[in-house]
Amino acid sequence: MIIDGKKTAEDLRKDLKRKISELKSTYNAVPGLSVILVGEDPASKIYVKNKAKFAKEVGLNSEVIRYPANLEEKVLLNKIKDLNKNTKVSGILVQLPLPSHIDKKKVIDTIDHAKDVDGFHPMNVGNLSSGYKSNIPCTPLGCSILLKKVEKNLNGKHAVVIGRSNLNGKPMTQLLLKENCTVTITHSKTKDLKAECLRADIIIAAVGIPKLVKGDWVKKGAIVIDVGINKTESGIVGDVDFDEVSKVAKAITPVPGGVGPMTIACLLQNTINCFKRSNI
Ligand code: NAP
Repeated sequence: MIIDGKKTAEDLRKDLKRKISELKSTYNAVPGLSVILVGEDPASKIYVKNKAKFAKEVGLNSEVIRYPANLEEKVLLNKIKDLNKNTKVSGILVQLPLPSHIDKKKVIDTIDHAKDVDGFHPMNVGNLSSGYKSNIPCTPLGCSILLKKVEKNLNGKHAVVIGRSNLNGKPMTQLLLKENCTVTITHSKTKDLKAECLRADIIIAAVGIPKLVKGDWVKKGAIVIDVGINKTESGIVGDVDFDEVSKVAKAITPVPGGVGPMTIACLLQNTINCFKRSNI
């Protein structure tokens, strides 16, 4: 089974569009998303453009605030504080990476955790790991939705997460634990990654190394979710060798068209959730 992230994201956006029109009639207001872009990073510019496009498509009020790369940190922090106070803004996202003179941690900590649609604020990270309500980082949330399309009940499954970043690996681990998986989290110092992967019923690859996971690393019938987006001479590829692994796995996400489209759809969902919580 090839897990179609593009179609799943389209369906999710349709559902969100309907929810937004319901919110509009209930509250006479729609959720608002403010995205801040600092600098000219080409990949970030594309991500932000797509976020704005889909936000508009589902009917969110969205704005993109653009700053030059030499922006003073203080100006950015003050802007975030203004957005925190603005009742029309339900969600705030500062596109990463930021220029090196700006302290990423300070920026994330300044966003009101209730408006932190990326789920990176320490309060959301803590709530997620404690099993409380929180904003969940968009990419792992998208991975979970795709996983549940293949298998509703993940109880007792052995999941191997490759990568321990705050963005992907760590929150993914928390989501899998919530589903009662037994989770092994691996990273660059893991002794025998192939042996770990061979024990997995579920593999989540979030590494950033093209085609790292090979066909003979995967147990027959495993589910493989590929988070990687790697630019190579032959185009964009994932962290999984799709041609090899798709012959062994029960289900696999392609790159592109797998996890990628889900990330933005989940961002829109998080924005709606923030709006709902602030209006209860
Ligand atoms: P990251 O912050 O660079 O983290 C990479 C992780 O992989 C680290 O934990 C690192 O271990 C581990 N690692 C590196 N080499 C390894 C190896 N040989 N064996 C096992 N683990 C290894 O990356 P990220 O931000 O999580 O992104 C990972 C990938 O996902 C990238 O390709 C990125 O472009 C992609 N991505 C996709 C989406 C999407 O929407 N689909 C969103 C975000 C990111 P250490 O901790 O020991 O260094």
